[in-house]
Amino acid sequence: MKMAEISFFEWQSRFQTEHDCLIYLQELKWPNGFICPQCGHDHAHVIQTRLLHQCSACQHQTSVKAGTLFHRSHLPLWKWFWGIYFIGSDKGGISAMRLSKLIEVNWRTARLMLKKLRQAMAHRDSLYPLSGLIEVDDALVGGKRSGKRGRGATGKTPVLIAYESKKKQAGYVAMKAVDSVSHNSVKEFVSKRIIEGQEIHTDGLAALNIIGETHEHEARVTPSSNGFPGCTSRSVI
Ligand SMILES: [Zn+2]
Repeated sequence: MKMAEISFFEWQSRFQTEHDCLIYLQELKWPNGFICPQCGHDHAHVIQTRLLHQCSACQHQTSVKAGTLFHRSHLPLWKWFWGIYFIGSDKGGISAMRLSKLIEVNWRTARLMLKKLRQAMAHRDSLYPLSGLIEVDDALVGGKRSGKRGRGATGKTPVLIAYESKKKQAGYVAMKAVDSVSHNSVKEFVSKRIIEGQEIHTDGLAALNIIGETHEHEARVTPSSNGFPGCTSRSVI
């Protein structure tokens, strides 16, 4: 969540209600539309009040809060979101006392919120850490325009992609633009986004083999049919 780039008034108008916050989480969770975490099906019946998704194929129910730090919280999401805003916009670090007054919760709750939010923000992109069988791949993004600050002659930006492999569909996806696909950039990317020891498949590109140092790495020279939808190895997207 890039809170620093949004003004107080924008934040206030965007996250007024519980539903506004749920919609935001839904966009983070399924940027390309619903994917059932159980069977990989892409259609769900949605209970609008809570944005509870019930898979049309296997009937599995998923909340957009599942897998986030808000999951078991009884606090309204908009209070959490304000906590995120105040932490992000207060360079000196907001106190639990001040937060408790701003969002009308008791001091203990505010203190716990700050602790949880600061932990989550320490790995800023890990609102949804990837799990299960994960594929890591690289791709090139960009058109014919000239590159920014000399990033390669073609003007394309290398991107590292990690996605949860669920049958023929992808689950959550993490992407990061990098200067180059190297041992260093791959190591940094997987350490931030994928829990250590997790099983990761790649196509065996040399730079990706560093993954074996921290994770269960299986390199396959022949790509499987479990590819990221619409994206083949070393594709241009
Ligand atoms: Zn399902």
